[in-house]
Amino acid sequence: GRYQIVRRLGGGGMGIVYLADDLRLPGLRCAIKEMSPAVLAAQDRDWAIQAFRQEAQMLATLRHPGLAAVTDFFPDGDNLYLVMEYVEGESLEQKLKAAPRGRLTTPQALVIARQLCDVLEYLHSGVPPVIFRDLKPSNVMMLPSGQVKLIDFGIARFFKSGRTADTLNMGTPGYAAPEQYGGMGQSDPRTDVYSLGVLLYRMITGYNPSDAVTPFSLPPVEQLVPDVQPQVSAAISRAKQMQPELRFGSVAE
Ligand code: ADP
Ligand code: MG
Repeated sequence: GRYQIVRRLGGGGMGIVYLADDLRLPGLRCAIKEMSPAVLAAQDRDWAIQAFRQEAQMLATLRHPGLAAVTDFFPDGDNLYLVMEYVEGESLEQKLKAAPRGRLTTPQALVIARQLCDVLEYLHSGVPPVIFRDLKPSNVMMLPSGQVKLIDFGIARFFKSGRTADTLNMGTPGYAAPEQYGGMGQSDPRTDVYSLGVLLYRMITGYNPSDAVTPFSLPPVEQLVPDVQPQVSAAISRAKQMQPELRFGSVAE
């Protein structure tokens, strides 16, 4: 009785996202993500729902300009609903697809990367650290002001069932770190460092890592962008090392 659906905004891996009016706060729009435990195997449902509740509660305590704030969550019928701030704008994926050669200039890319560093550092400095886990251009919204906001939290991992071609249960091919393929509970801040490195790679080169034939092997930045600044290229290659110990130890670093 509180939220009135306006239209569908998107949908993918595990559910549909709707634009809605908050009838208790007229004029306020929100985005509501619908998740269906029905996609899960029967024996996983109970713990996944419990985990979802705990994580939704924790997400609701986070506040950062670089995050779509979570404001409510509730079960209804067979589904679970996560209510969050509505972010108007285009995704970084759309922006890249529309850009000449599919890429940004280095200054543009660094403005975005710096903001992502800020918000990831905020998440990682929580106790315990919050690992975003699915950093990729379609989960980064670009506001008209240039501000970026992350959507699509790791919470979704409980429900990602491998139903869609581009969503594995633990991340997205191309952007997910190698350790994300090993099962749950193996992510740490360096997992997001990896995805951030690949995201920066994509912005600078225009090469979509999801198109790579061999997993985790991308053409060198210099091959695609001969005039890349060496320090940018070095940061990318360190961030996206296969072994977490060889990456930056933190986003701040
Ligand atoms: P998934 O990738 O699991 O399908 P997302 O949370 O990324 O789910 O949402 C899918 C799409 O819905 C996004 O690409 C975006 O277009 C839209 N969307 C999701 N959350 C929001 C939000 N808070 N504000 C505006 N649009 C959103
Ligand atoms: Mg998404």
